[in-house]
Amino acid sequence: LEPKEEFQHSSLTADVMRPRRSDPPLAVLTQEGMTVEEVEALVESTHYSGFPVVVSQDSHRLVGFVLRRDLLISIDNARKRQEGVVGASQVVFTEHSPAPADDAPPPLRLRGIVDLSPFTVTDHTPMDITVDIFRKLGLRQCLVTKLLGIITKKDILKHMANDCQQRPRLHPLQL
Ligand code: ATP
Repeated sequence: LEPKEEFQHSSLTADVMRPRRSDPPLAVLTQEGMTVEEVEALVESTHYSGFPVVVSQDSHRLVGFVLRRDLLISIDNARKRQEGVVGASQVVFTEHSPAPADDAPPPLRLRGIVDLSPFTVTDHTPMDITVDIFRKLGLRQCLVTKLLGIITKKDILKHMANDCQQRPRLHPLQL
């Protein structure tokens, strides 16, 4: 992005982000519940460089971001080397997941390739700020999210203190 290409003050991220109303919906992966075959079909039917990972198709709550090339390499490696990984295997982006049914093929665990804190802006972020973020951080993409809440240092300390009361051997980390 050239520094000269300034956006007008009135431009918002919503004016530039995709998908537009007429576009196909955002292509996302769910953190669990998709099979290797379904993930491959999604990747092969698009040319996007990456896919947001969401909690579920209904909530679209953001879990992280996966690069297309990491997905393709991991699936290819797993199909070649990982015993029992087939098209019907579940792809799991969560840390823990319920044990698969006895007759189900082993899941393909891909938590390791998820960027769990991708850069985000909101649709109301002025475009000049979004451009600044891209320039300063050298980003290739940035996710546009909705505000759900806020977390402060004190919130974390209180949470840790409660946690310690329940499990007295743990000490809160110093923030
Ligand atoms: P190129 O592939 O030419 O480098 P690019 O840098 O814009 O293009 P892509 O990830 O291929 O990167 O995105 C192409 C277009 O599709 C962009 O307009 C982008 O906003 C949109 N896009 C990217 N990822 C998704 C996705 N997962 N779902 C829907 N649209 C997406």
